[in-house]
Amino acid sequence: MSAYTKKQPRVVVVGSCSMDLVVTSSRRPGAGETVLGESFKTVPGGKGANQAVAAARLGADVSMIGRVGDDSLGQTILDNLKQNGVCTDNVEPVTHCESGTAHIILAEGDNSIIVVEAANRHVTPEYVEQARAVIEQADIVLIQQEIPAETVLLVSRICKQSGVPLLLNPAPARPVEAEVIDNSAYLTPNEHEASLLFDGAELGESLRKYPNRLIVTEGSRGARYFDGQEEAVVPSYPVEAVDTTGAGDTFNAAFAVALAEGKSIADSLRFANRAASLSVTRFGAQGGMPKRAEVEEALA
Ligand code: ATP
Repeated sequence: MSAYTKKQPRVVVVGSCSMDLVVTSSRRPGAGETVLGESFKTVPGGKGANQAVAAARLGADVSMIGRVGDDSLGQTILDNLKQNGVCTDNVEPVTHCESGTAHIILAEGDNSIIVVEAANRHVTPEYVEQARAVIEQADIVLIQQEIPAETVLLVSRICKQSGVPLLLNPAPARPVEAEVIDNSAYLTPNEHEASLLFDGAELGESLRKYPNRLIVTEGSRGARYFDGQEEAVVPSYPVEAVDTTGAGDTFNAAFAVALAEGKSIADSLRFANRAASLSVTRFGAQGGMPKRAEVEEALA
């Protein structure tokens, strides 16, 4: 029996749940113009929900803390989480509110996106406070920045007080309070987010300031951190990238699951790179997220 089957790590994700509404078109309309599109699809998304689904596929016992609207999209978002084995006891619909949506136009080889936060604004400190016990019992908590900053601060305090490691994926890029950084066991910005967070300071300097805590993801190159002695890049795996959407979400979920299972940082980063590299070989954020067996087979 592998170590993994002996202990299923409890991962709690506090974050956004959304629906991506994706249109493909040969070109995007100008102001006041209507164009005929080619296709339309709805795809569950939101960084919180994406990371919850990724962690569940990798074998963790996952509870999501978030909100949806009381519309049909909200029901679809909840159904999708449940189908992926995520506990949704703390994903309550907000009355008279729309679900969070991302309106995506894929045209002329690029995307244009309008995000409407809607129900995700209701992931307030008061709401999360009701689920304090769930957070306190986690092996690791994952959080991102598509919910109010006050909520991120509260969760960081609960984690600090209860000794639960917090993994802050500071995406999308926005400034983070120093207290939140102090309270986080791990920070996982991509290169752009890292440059914003650490105020243009040399990356190496920042890495040294947060040994074994600050992990900067570098796309196909993998992930960089300082192990207390030297700066190390844990390389990702060469793959034919089809769609990198959700690579970061898969990486964070996999890193969290591996850490919660007691793996070292270096081994957890290898596991995260492997899972994320598999995710980019398939279309869609959640569509590309691998199952546990697939990652283990690829690592073997
Ligand atoms: P995204 O916003 O696309 O989800 P991100 O900008 O948050 O991603 P990246 O640093 O681009 O984060 O990628 C996260 C991780 O995904 C990388 O550290 C790596 O493990 C993996 N990855 C991303 N792109 C590739 C690729 N082309 N080949 C292999 N691995 C990749």
